[in-house]
Amino acid sequence: MPGKSVKRRKNTKYVFVTGGVVSSLGKGIAAASIGRLLKARGLSVTMMKLDPYINVDPGTMSPFQHGEVYVTEDGAETDLDLGHYERYIEEDMGRVNNATAGQIYDSVITKERRGDYLGATVQVIPHITGEIIERIERVSMGAKPYDVVLVEVGGTVGDIESLPFLEAIRQMGLEKGPKNCLFLHLTLVPYIPTAGEVKTKPTQHSVKELREIGIQPNLLLCRTDRPLEKKVKEKIALFCNVSRNDVFDVQDVETVYELPLMLEREGLGKRLLALLGLKAKEPDYEDWKPIVKRIKQPKKEVRIAIVGKYVEVRDSYKSIIESFIHAGAFHDARVNLKWIEAEDFESRPAAELLCDCSGLLIPGGFGERGCEGKIAAIHYARVNKLPFFGICLGMQAATIEFARNVCGLKKAQSREFSDNTRQPVIDYLADQRTVKMKGATMRLGSYPCFLKRGSLAHKAFQTDAITERHRHRLEVNNAYRETLEQNGLKVTGVWPGGDLVEIVEIEDHPWYLAVQFHPELKSRPTKPHPLYRDFVGACVEHSESVRKKVASNGILSKQTQELD
Ligand code: GLN
Repeated sequence: MPGKSVKRRKNTKYVFVTGGVVSSLGKGIAAASIGRLLKARGLSVTMMKLDPYINVDPGTMSPFQHGEVYVTEDGAETDLDLGHYERYIEEDMGRVNNATAGQIYDSVITKERRGDYLGATVQVIPHITGEIIERIERVSMGAKPYDVVLVEVGGTVGDIESLPFLEAIRQMGLEKGPKNCLFLHLTLVPYIPTAGEVKTKPTQHSVKELREIGIQPNLLLCRTDRPLEKKVKEKIALFCNVSRNDVFDVQDVETVYELPLMLEREGLGKRLLALLGLKAKEPDYEDWKPIVKRIKQPKKEVRIAIVGKYVEVRDSYKSIIESFIHAGAFHDARVNLKWIEAEDFESRPAAELLCDCSGLLIPGGFGERGCEGKIAAIHYARVNKLPFFGICLGMQAATIEFARNVCGLKKAQSREFSDNTRQPVIDYLADQRTVKMKGATMRLGSYPCFLKRGSLAHKAFQTDAITERHRHRLEVNNAYRETLEQNGLKVTGVWPGGDLVEIVEIEDHPWYLAVQFHPELKSRPTKPHPLYRDFVGACVEHSESVRKKVASNGILSKQTQELD
């Protein structure tokens, strides 16, 4: 049978997480929180996401469709749930930790063409399911001996396209036995106001659907907006064929980082261990608890503007949002994000849009729409000494703004927006010019960067060399580097391998820094990213100095009114 050739770690346990009733129940965060419960007990844990769509990876999807594309150290473009996994279990994910239906089919078809199945009819069962099993098992065979692999199946039970994945995990459950495989199902128990009670029927149906395909869930996690009464849990247990102790309610939490603590209080950690037959030390949340407390009850507040073109889909900026939560917790400050459509700056003055903000972040992005708006916003921040942080396209836009308004290169432009620009201060990377295929062909993943001593970047990292993750095709054009530097746009980080500009800063500004990489991909709750940390620190300082100025002038500005 396909999959048999893979050498297996005998002691690895698998926990499969499926979702029912509706999407957007926070399956990724629930799975990641379960990972934390196990990590807190000193177990070695890794995670995997199975995505039922046909795209080989989400790299070619629009952020409006898919949200953020999460880039791993090894340069894979993956689902944003891998970001949750990294943040909760504090382990780097890689290419192997995300498999899509596209990859599975691609690999089976390649094998078929090579003749690996000569004589056979290639079918969903056993070939596609075998390939899925092989990929799941590959994850457990990392350099480290993982105690548990948590596997999240994307989509909602009942979807046609997730069937081969569910069949594959069913087979694994049968083959490995109940002590080695657990099935955890996340469902919704909605409150119906007209009935004045919560309803268990959608959960019953969803579990029935799973059982029809041969999967009996061991544990049910019920999303609900209120505590579930004993009799409700008993009813769910009876109709879904699970033990009463294995129905957990997952109520809405103030911050998603509270979820592991809530699940722990509910006794899920202990129950998981018992069901898996694992022994471990008492859970330790010493590093996690104070962060949750600071996120929930910060002493300060600060408002920061994010100017982008996908702002109506917040998932497009997932890791950025989380990085601000981590950095905010560090400074004991709640970061209130003000989302502004980049195009708004093309019709309204920047001062009007940014006057109530203590900082500006321009995130990454693709395409020309909104770029002039971003440039206008950066111009305002540079001239008015508003803390500014540019990410990827944000750094490219900052370079264009500086070239046009300080270096006198009035026509400065990015080659991405104008093929025949005469002043391409941003141009395609040399090896990108001939690239025709769109999938996985950007400069992706982790690259080293050398930092200039005395810079904001060096101050933040406190080291001469760092590594950061990338996802781009264009870059500051080295032909303009001298002009830019002479006029004050200092290059403070470079990739030594290709002499590429990775970080720019200006002096005589409280905090103005832009990077070609994506620092948000490496921020963790217990370890905020140094650049987000220092940017938020500068914004807090800016807001406090405005507050003091206002107090001494006796004027109550819009900003202080809203903060009070
Ligand atoms: N579109 C730009 C590039 O390809 C920026 C990419 C990004 O912001 N991730 O270089």
